[in-house]
Amino acid sequence: MLSKNTLQILNIAVLLNFNQIFLEKLLPTTDVYFIDVILPLPLQRLFTYRITEAEAVFLKPGVRVAVPFGKSKIYTGLVAEVHQNAPEAYEAKAIHQILDQNPIVNELQLKLWNWISSYYMCSLGDVYRAAFPSAFLLESETVVLRNNSFTDQTQLTDVEFLIFEALQQQTQLSAIEISGIVNKKNVLPFLKSMLEKGAIVVREEIYEQYKPKLVNYIRLTEKYKGQDALQETLQLVSRAKKQYQALMTYFSLEGETRKPIKVKELQEKAAVSSAVVKSLVDKKVFEVYQIQVDRIHFREAESSLKELSKHQQKAFEEIKNSFETKAVTLLHGVTSSGKTEVYSKLIQEVLDEGKQVLFLLPEIALTTQLINRLKKIFGGKISVYHSKYSMNERVEVWNNVLQSKSKAQIVLGARSSLFLPFDNLGLIIVDEEHEVSYKQFDPAPRYHARDTAILLGHLHGAKTLLGSATPSIESFFNGNKEKYGLVHLKKRYGDVQMPEVQLVDIKEKHRKKRMSGHFSDVLLQQIQEALDAKEQVILFQNRRGFSPVMECETCAVSPQCPNCDVSLTYHKFRKELRCHYCNYRQAVPMACGACGSEKLTTLGFGTEQIELELKELLPAYNIGRMDLDTTRGKYGYQKIIGAFQAQEIDILVGTQMLSKGLDFGNVSLVGVLNADNLLNFPDFRAHERTFQMLVQVAGRSGRSSKRGRVLIQTFNPYHQILQQVSSNSYEEMYQEQLQDRWQFHYPPYYRVMRITLKHRDLIRVDEASEWLGKSLQNAFRENVLGPTAPAVSRVRNLYIKHIVVKIPPKQSLKGTKDHIEKIKKTFQAIPNFRAIRLGIDVDSY
Ligand code: ADP
Ligand code: ZN
Ligand code: ZN
Repeated sequence: MLSKNTLQILNIAVLLNFNQIFLEKLLPTTDVYFIDVILPLPLQRLFTYRITEAEAVFLKPGVRVAVPFGKSKIYTGLVAEVHQNAPEAYEAKAIHQILDQNPIVNELQLKLWNWISSYYMCSLGDVYRAAFPSAFLLESETVVLRNNSFTDQTQLTDVEFLIFEALQQQTQLSAIEISGIVNKKNVLPFLKSMLEKGAIVVREEIYEQYKPKLVNYIRLTEKYKGQDALQETLQLVSRAKKQYQALMTYFSLEGETRKPIKVKELQEKAAVSSAVVKSLVDKKVFEVYQIQVDRIHFREAESSLKELSKHQQKAFEEIKNSFETKAVTLLHGVTSSGKTEVYSKLIQEVLDEGKQVLFLLPEIALTTQLINRLKKIFGGKISVYHSKYSMNERVEVWNNVLQSKSKAQIVLGARSSLFLPFDNLGLIIVDEEHEVSYKQFDPAPRYHARDTAILLGHLHGAKTLLGSATPSIESFFNGNKEKYGLVHLKKRYGDVQMPEVQLVDIKEKHRKKRMSGHFSDVLLQQIQEALDAKEQVILFQNRRGFSPVMECETCAVSPQCPNCDVSLTYHKFRKELRCHYCNYRQAVPMACGACGSEKLTTLGFGTEQIELELKELLPAYNIGRMDLDTTRGKYGYQKIIGAFQAQEIDILVGTQMLSKGLDFGNVSLVGVLNADNLLNFPDFRAHERTFQMLVQVAGRSGRSSKRGRVLIQTFNPYHQILQQVSSNSYEEMYQEQLQDRWQFHYPPYYRVMRITLKHRDLIRVDEASEWLGKSLQNAFRENVLGPTAPAVSRVRNLYIKHIVVKIPPKQSLKGTKDHIEKIKKTFQAIPNFRAIRLGIDVDSY
């Protein structure tokens, strides 16, 4: 054992960053020590490194170490275990450096990672890489830049200063390049320290800076303010009728409300042009000023917890009762029933117990409204964690959670926030639990955030609440089977009625020539009525399958992506063709590449097309568009949502993004341009998804007082799903889908797992997938489907094959996985298959 004295020296040595040689001299070692290290690589096993006895005393699981790997690479590894067993297969290398004083990952996290790795059949390294902000994972390839806002260079040590200077010469350098420049083998600790001081940043996407929207307001200048000046003012404009009108209107507006008056508002109310206002400004009667408006406006000012309605209170109590016996409860609450208020009450109780709360949201950028609502209630206790946030923001939240700071007592986040270093969770809320974006598809770990949340809750002894107006079939099934508690909230807040849904048969409309472009006469008429009543309209156009493509009128060939097996999508605005799979782009061709004809047309219709048609049909209104193109960057959504909320946009056209929890008080009509392509999607969940999507977009209509309207255009008005949407019959949909699932062997009865094979060479991927398919069939018989080629069978020049394995209710999940692992090992030992990329997706839906 080490004496107390040596320990002290040791601590000081670590603090001063002394290297291990110094320590070794100080403490002659007799025993050998090793650590098992998790590397951020898709490798099945952990790697063992040699450490000194002194380091063995210091190192604990959860501490980062810089370690050499391969010929010249350096990675940030994480200590999983300290032990004394030398590896058998190789000679353990020594570590380079210890990077942390204290563990930055706790035991519960490591348990969670292990569960993810075994349940989702991926390596711990995959989980490790996904779990951390990349600034925590410095490696020899990491590229860093100077942080231009860093000024206090006195904070830097000599070596750090050298690096800082080098980054002035060359804007970006990799760790390995820096290592050459400063002539040090091991620069990660310097980079880590510089990151902490804020002197450098890790290269990542460049984030768009959001410029808050400035609205122009108008007021009287000092000179003309007050009663005395009134006469004088009116005198001044007595001969200019319009100006007089503007002034009188201003006075009446000022009398009506004490609120600032927008320039736009004055022009509208006084029915004068901007030129009139401008001349008054020129005369120095008025002045224009700006207020930095809160990024998001609210329908009403909120400050504290609201009083729950009778129905909400009942739901709240039922949830608490259910938590007495069940760890997981599903809240099935119709759109606009006020689920957020119920959540808030529960959150308050958990905060009062001093515990942490994790609030998961499907896509955080879309939920600024919700974030702001919660911020108003819980103020400084909320931290938001999301991959669109900058590295610094993410690192800050991580550290706040790690130190159990009160400002991170509630974390709102997308799926990756499951990985934060919580140590005392009391409640996890999974809002909109049915959302597909909770599932990570690529790369591994291919985990489902809802299911992982339930496990995380279990590890902490916390409760998990799933909430949705349209629960996933699996969750509702678990609720009905009493595996989860199930609570209903069937009334909208304020007893507003559910929107009235009308189905429009567009086959009929086409036949009778009652269509203008993609709009039926009924839809146009209702849009006009809503606009006349100064209400707003949302139009929904599904993204899937409706990407417009170019086609040659002569030979019907459409331009293809050179890297993927898919037609290029036409983007009218930029006049280019783009591949949505690999981002390839090219200018719109002048002539057909196949036959040379110059007659090219566009097929299909996207949101952009709808927007253009609308602009022609309703030129007097402001039309906004919300889709992938218009919402790039951290605040992309926020700008559009803010503008719609401020009623600067009359009609908002958008994709599925619109279905996600938005709350606008003034929307009285939601139009769905075509429901059919949702229904026709080749996936066992297509019907469930269609129902969810349509009910959710419908739920955006008529939320505050008046009953809203929803109009769905379709070629199949008698389709059972559309009927169920129009009568809002979730349970009927559920029962019917459940029968199909049973009959066709799908979840929740059977589990589904998908194996993907990829390679540049089609023949090789064919051969490999045949082999794998046969081996799996030997074990699992008729429960193996495929191999098949997916709809887009080549992406980024890799050919793709899928094999699906279904697991019957009574078959052991673990046994199945073990067997698949075995087959995989044999597969990977076949030389010809070694280069095939093999991905396994457990619960691949
Ligand atoms: P959901 O998430 O269930 O669709 P929300 O939580 O967005 O519904 O609530 C819908 C609207 O009703 C929001 O504008 C919300 O502020 C309001 N609301 C809900 N419950 C209450 C309450 N108890 N008191 C006041 N307003 C409420
Ligand atoms: Zn052609
Ligand atoms: Zn492509």
